[in-house]
Amino acid sequence: MSFDLALINGRIWTENPSQPEAEAIGVIGNRIAFVGTSNDVLAGCTAETRLVGLRGRRVVPGFNDAHVHFYLGGASLSSVQLRDAESVGELRERVAAFASKRPKGEWILLGSWDPERWPVGSSLDRSLIDDVTPEHPVLLNRADAHTSLANSLAIRLAGVNGASAEIPGGEIGRRPDGSLNGIFKDAAQALITRVVPAPTKNQMVRALDAAQLHAARYGVTSIQDMGLLGTQARECSADLFRAYQELDQNGNLNVRVSLHTPLVAWKRLADLGVKAWFGNERLRIGGIKAFADGSLASTTAWFFDPYTDADWTSGIPSDDMSNPEQMLNDLTACDEAGLQLAVHAIGDRANHEVLSFFEEIERRHERRDRRWRIEHAQHVRACDMRRFAQLGVVASVQPYHLSDDGRWADARIGRERAKETYAFRSLIDAGATLALGSDWWVAPIDPLLTIWAATTRKTLDGAHPDGWVREEKISVEEAVHAYTVGAAYASGEEHIKGSLETGKLADIAVLSGDIFDMEPDEISGVQVDMTVFDGRVLFERD
Ligand SMILES: [Zn+2]
Repeated sequence: MSFDLALINGRIWTENPSQPEAEAIGVIGNRIAFVGTSNDVLAGCTAETRLVGLRGRRVVPGFNDAHVHFYLGGASLSSVQLRDAESVGELRERVAAFASKRPKGEWILLGSWDPERWPVGSSLDRSLIDDVTPEHPVLLNRADAHTSLANSLAIRLAGVNGASAEIPGGEIGRRPDGSLNGIFKDAAQALITRVVPAPTKNQMVRALDAAQLHAARYGVTSIQDMGLLGTQARECSADLFRAYQELDQNGNLNVRVSLHTPLVAWKRLADLGVKAWFGNERLRIGGIKAFADGSLASTTAWFFDPYTDADWTSGIPSDDMSNPEQMLNDLTACDEAGLQLAVHAIGDRANHEVLSFFEEIERRHERRDRRWRIEHAQHVRACDMRRFAQLGVVASVQPYHLSDDGRWADARIGRERAKETYAFRSLIDAGATLALGSDWWVAPIDPLLTIWAATTRKTLDGAHPDGWVREEKISVEEAVHAYTVGAAYASGEEHIKGSLETGKLADIAVLSGDIFDMEPDEISGVQVDMTVFDGRVLFERD
């Protein structure tokens, strides 16, 4: 054997049960050719081998982020940054500064503002940003992506006003006098997004390229792209796939992508005969993404009982779910066509209904290995936990959200219900397969932050030093397993990735510290020193 790449003198966490730890890896082409001792690997090195001395550093399989919005992530890197704005005043200043550098008429989008950081009683109204953006239409998302703030110019361009009718699955924000305050929730965001110019394919290619560079810095070698949202999802999904293909065909795709298509477009895939998963080892299609409800932050997550701090609502079923019979028929048809179903469900009611859909589909058809997934699986009643295992539904979860939501979720849904929130320990104990992800751009892509959140359950405000609902903590081993093997299972690729063993793809992350040998709280400070993708060193921290 002569290796193209060799990593020696490391502490390698293989995720291979028959050889859990090793010192060294030898790579030939894009495959792992050998895992074992440094001496054995050195014996296969020649003058042409790229030899990397790891100096005892911890190595894990490349992270597989089971839930991202990659285009939006890439686009957000070059847009206005509002996530850490500490007040509405700071939001206004940042928007003003950003607008002053952009050509007149250009839309200002994304932003990810976080009202939980602002002083209590802060309220948001379009008048806050109108005078600093007279010539830029603006549509800024809340960090959870289920609410947006539009300025008056955007609202005018969209032809929306105080007389506009509510739309199913959404909510239009109004002032006491009935005029619009610029806030649009869930499906109502489409009132504005439908006039936002669609990104061109070249803009998409640029954003995806920025996104994959960003991912490489964090050791992320595979992503499962839940695609575009709202109006863009309906109109631009083909362009997104074209942009990925362009990168791939030019040899420039440096992350493995499983792309989910919005439910509205399922028939196009089915008519062509595309099944899960069609493509190559870098780019695949055949997954569908549907929605059952909104988000907890925007009080649109769909619960059995009303919100504690907003008792007039139990949340809103999504626009897909507003006609449950149609949704069930569409999901059944997708399943018949051999497409993989991933359904967003946050509230306990939404999770319950989706599990019942899956049950009904299985009743109509035969039982087979489908890899159904529920995205977020955020609030699950104890009686529904075991249905994940019974039906073989993957819980695709993003633990960083708990550190975010844990700041205010007790007040929103009450202490008792909060115990069934982000219940990763209970899901694992009930036999469910967990796949970890970030939900970037809604949350940071950094897998170490995700693992920190899953294992410490600390909240971003430091209010829960022992962890919020600490019974639901999982171990570092479980978190890494769910980020590699679990995520590979979710996209049906456990035969080629997820573990470091002979014959599998050489996708590897070298960490600055040993996450298995430190306090979980320290994990958030660990960095990725090197990322190997497809047998090549793709990123190296200097
Ligand atoms: Zn998402």
